Amino acid sequence: MNLQKNQIIELDITSMTAEGSGVGKTDEGIAVFVPQSAVGDKILVKILKTKKTYAFGKIERIITPSKDRKNPDCPYFNKCGGCVYRHITYDAEKKIKEQKVKDAVTRIGGIDERKIKPLISSDKFNRYRNKAQFPVGIDKDGKIILGFYAFHSHRIIDCDDCMLQPEIFKTVMDITRGFMTETNQQPYDETTGKGKLRHLYIRYGEKTDELMVCYVVNGNGLKQEDLLVERLKNALPNLKSVVINSNREKTNVILGSKNRVAFGQGFIYDELCGLKFKISPLSFYQVNRETAEILYSKAKEYANLSGNEVLFDLYCGTGTIGLSMARDCKQLIGVEIIADAIDDAKENARVNNIDNARFICGNASEAALMLEKENIEPDVVVVDPPRKGLEKDLIETIARINPDRVVYVSCDPATLARDLKIYGEHGYETQEITPVDMFLGTSHIECVVWMSRV
Ligand code: SAH
Repeated sequence: MNLQKNQIIELDITSMTAEGSGVGKTDEGIAVFVPQSAVGDKILVKILKTKKTYAFGKIERIITPSKDRKNPDCPYFNKCGGCVYRHITYDAEKKIKEQKVKDAVTRIGGIDERKIKPLISSDKFNRYRNKAQFPVGIDKDGKIILGFYAFHSHRIIDCDDCMLQPEIFKTVMDITRGFMTETNQQPYDETTGKGKLRHLYIRYGEKTDELMVCYVVNGNGLKQEDLLVERLKNALPNLKSVVINSNREKTNVILGSKNRVAFGQGFIYDELCGLKFKISPLSFYQVNRETAEILYSKAKEYANLSGNEVLFDLYCGTGTIGLSMARDCKQLIGVEIIADAIDDAKENARVNNIDNARFICGNASEAALMLEKENIEPDVVVVDPPRKGLEKDLIETIARINPDRVVYVSCDPATLARDLKIYGEHGYETQEITPVDMFLGTSHIECVVWMSRV
């Protein structure tokens, strides 16, 4: 029997997808994806959408709950697309994430699962993030709303607080919402391209207690900006910067390329692994500081430096990984495509009195070719690309310049697995993979991998 929309069926949830949705199979073998269900649940499911071999549904009623279930303790869990595992214990979440890594690296990468070490994390489940980007919009009654996109959508869910964010962000959200309402300013509308304020972007240096508030605006600024800055300053003694970021493009990309400082210095500092880091609005910075230190120390262990090595840190952001290893190698060369991040990296070397670092702004693949032409022979190469992983060309260049060890930091197990396979074909054997949970409650998982030349 084919499933029909709105039909209600009984279902046992038997597995999870990589995105954190529960899955059960009907007697006819049709897979039904049910968000916020848990392995071991027996549920009544309302079918929302059907395809030939699979369907999507939502929980109508839980008949027998999974033993992994716990109270989600967030009023937005049913609506928001951020966390997917707030309804199960962290032990259960860990197992799902370990399985996600195992599935990817064994199936796509063809790597022996014994190379995968147990997942490590900080066990700080709430308020671990230091960065938020809240879309701003208007509801059907004309009220300013600010919060998160619903799962797989661009519908804004109004929200006062997020359990993953520092409490101080609430104050910034309240002030922003109040200011927009009182000054009667229209937020940006994605469909018409009209209106000003697109996103509220906040960053917090947890160790230094420095706060940066950034408004992403379709234009040059907001009306009565001084009033807004005054209110933020009065409420937040640790406010270091207010920045206006201009983004006039019709795009999903949140930040534009131009910043104007409305108050303060235009950046913040934070500390990681005993070093101080300057972070500008456009520069990448790890969102979970505590686990970033865990990740970096694992990467350092895998780099196994003795003091004599030439080290490449490709996709270096503000230089954090490389600089945390610079005192243990002879020379560090970092490469990063965002110019502001490279400026930060240079400054970060200076403020930490590190004088054996060189930073290059450019595409990692092209910069690696350039370094090859300069005949620089690295002993260790660290790569930390965005989710799409590495270009095949770059892996080939790295194999030619022939470092002893490659350390691969990845935020996507699937592209990691694809790339490990290519590395394998070029003579780099995966020795060890450690999953590091930097994104507790969400479906994301970071990995750090040690490869060596065979
Ligand atoms: N290692 C850093 C940054 C990792 S995030 C840290 O731990 O903080 C990935 C970085 O790669 C981002 O800073 C991004 O701007 C940069 N990037 C993206 N594509 C790139 C490319 N093709 N070449 C070089 N850097 C790139």
